[in-house]
Parts: sequence; C-alpha cells; structure tokens
Amino acid sequence: MDLGFLPAGLEPYDVLVIGGGPAGATAALYTARAGLRTLVVDKGLTAGALGTTAKIVNYPGVPGPLSGAELVRRIRDQAVSFGAEFVTDKVLRVDLRGDPKQVWGGEGVYPAQAVVIATGAMGRTRRIPGEERLLGRGVSYCATCDGPFFQGQEVAVVGNNDEAVEEALTLTRFASRVHFLSPTADLRASPELGEALAAHPQVTLYPTARVREVVGQERVEGVRISHQGEERTIPVGGVFVYLQGNIPVTDFLDDQLPVGQGGCLLVDDSFQTVIPGVFAVGDVLCRHLKQAVVAAADGVVAAMAVDRYLSGRKKLRPDWSR
Ligand SMILES: Cc1cc2nc3c(=O)[nH]c(=O)nc-3n(C[C@H](O)[C@H](O)[C@H](O)COP(=O)(O)OP(=O)(O)OC[C@H]3O[C@@H](n4cnc5c(N)ncnc54)[C@H](O)[C@@H]3O)c2cc1C
Repeated sequence: MDLGFLPAGLEPYDVLVIGGGPAGATAALYTARAGLRTLVVDKGLTAGALGTTAKIVNYPGVPGPLSGAELVRRIRDQAVSFGAEFVTDKVLRVDLRGDPKQVWGGEGVYPAQAVVIATGAMGRTRRIPGEERLLGRGVSYCATCDGPFFQGQEVAVVGNNDEAVEEALTLTRFASRVHFLSPTADLRASPELGEALAAHPQVTLYPTARVREVVGQERVEGVRISHQGEERTIPVGGVFVYLQGNIPVTDFLDDQLPVGQGGCLLVDDSFQTVIPGVFAVGDVLCRHLKQAVVAAADGVVAAMAVDRYLSGRKKLRPDWSR
C-alpha cells in the first residue's frame, strides 16, 4: 500500500483531530472557535461508540431521547459553524514526531502542527478464523486502498455501520459483486447510506449473517457463513472487515506512543501525550468512566492545551519571513 508523501506546498492545519465522536468533535469546536485552522478526519458517523448508541437521555442540556448519531451530528454541526472542517477518511498511519506532523488516510495525507487522537475504544481483539493469516492476501480493512486490486472479482464486506456501507459502495466501482454480510438484522448506518446500499444492483445483502471463516490457501478463496439456518461458502477474492469490539483504537499509531494495560493511551493533566503537540481524549484513554459528556469535557481541556502549545511555539519560533 503506497501511502504517499506530503505534497509540496500543502499548508499544514493548526490542529488535526483523528476521530469525530463527542471527544474529537468537541475539541474541534473549541480549537476552531479559538481561530485555529482545524481538520477532523473521521471514518464514519456510526463507527464510534456514541454513533452506534440507539438512544441517549443523559447528556446535559439535551433531554432527548435522541440517537447517539444525532447528538454527534449536532456537535459536529456546531464545530463546523465555528470553521472546523470534517473529512470522511480512515486514518491508517501517522508520523507524530515530524514537523509538521503527518497523518495518512486512505484518501490522502493531512499535515498539521498539533494532533488530537480521539478514536474511541471500539477496536477488536477477536478475529475471524483465517482473517489474520490472509491479511494482505485478500483480507483488507480499506476499500479505498485495496479496492482496485479486485477489479471484476466478487468480494465480501463484513459489518453493519456507516464505515462498512461506505466501503461497500466504494467497492462496487471495482468488484463485479459485493456480498454484504451484516451481523445484525438491521443496519446500524445512516438511513441514506442504508438505502443506497439496498438499492445497489451489484450488492447482495445478508442480514444476521455469522461469518465462520475466511477460507483460502495462499489467498482468499471464499468466506464461510451461517445464514438463515444454513452454512455455506461464498466464493470471493477479497474480504473487507469492519466489525467492532471494545478495545482502544490505536492500531494506526504503530507503537509511536506508550500504552497502558489493554492498549489505552496515557496522557498528562492537559491530555498531552509524551510527544509535545500530540494530545489524546475520550474513550481511547486509560480510564474506566466512559460517558459522552466526559469525552466531550476532555475535548475542551485538550483544545485549550493545544492553543497554549501552538501559541508557545509561535513565541519560540523566529519569523524568518520578515
Ligand atoms: C452501546 C453504548 C451505549 C452507550 N450509552 C451511553 C449513554 O447513554 N450515555 C453516555 O453518556 N455515554 C454512553 N456510552 C458511552 C459513550 O458513547 C462514549 O463514552 C463516547 O462515545 C466516547 O467518545 P469518543 O469520542 O472518545 O469515542 P467514539 O464515540 O467511539 O468516537 C470515536 C470516533 O473515532 C472515529 N475513528 C476511529 N478510528 C478511526 C480511524 N482510524 N480513522 C478515522 N476515524 C476513526 C470513529 O469513526 C468515531 O467517530 C455508550 C457506549 C456504548 C458502546
């Protein structure tokens, strides 16, 4: 996978926030309002903990009930009203020690002076049998990166959220057929995305499908599923997996930051990690209390620390342009 280099002349953002749940979107709201050029990179509205929550009634000032996705949307809209930008992309790799820091997604590279990590704790520990062995040999987590390798082939997508649906729709540009294997009866995706998926002529939907194994010797040859009381193997050349679990999402960090027990991120009182200018907020942190309002509050404290970090740098740096 070629992740490319920073294109010459691309002006770094002041702040890049990875993850647009309550923690990341609130951090962006505050940094944008402070006049900092802010970009949030998020892989999908319903890919985070709050985005998947059907009903929320305990967020202060929002009596509800309303869906978690609607609450996230409102926080994002408020951030956008102050100038924050949002892109839908999955972060795959970062260089946190560079100047500027760089963040690579499936769609491009995003440079920034400061980075806020707000990716939550919906990562997986359990894998589908065969998934790890065939990773990179037909198993993938990124349709934008790997979709073109499956031109004219049949592929399977495993998942049910916005990210899974968007990736499946991307794959229809290359694959002859996309078998969409949802663990639930209904999709957990935005209605408009769900409708686009259901209406797509190249997509076959399998609600409540249990994926038993990714099969193949050297490469993926099929996916074995239980569906409607029957076990069967669908012959496919690729399997794209977007299932969720409950561990901190830090896979893209590639050991650049120390982690605590269970892979959670460690920060100081201002939510800064051991790397200056790199902050972390919300459920990705080592903390037992996982609530939307706590995540949002982290975002506020971190945003102020980001502002202090950036203004400190400006004072320290001579202006060579004069
Ligand atoms: C089922 C359930 C019910 C809950 N109910 C309540 C409740 O009633 N009240 C309450 O206060 N709290 C509730 N919580 C907890 C609350 O949802 C979390 O504490 C809160 O959402 C954490 O916010 P966050 O921003 O840290 O993470 P998340 O909300 O998980 O957001 C993380 C974001 O990061 C993005 N992301 C992840 N990886 C990447 C990547 N590689 N690239 C780009 N983007 C990425 C995701 O798309 C997501 O938008 C519930 C949680 C669950 C799971």
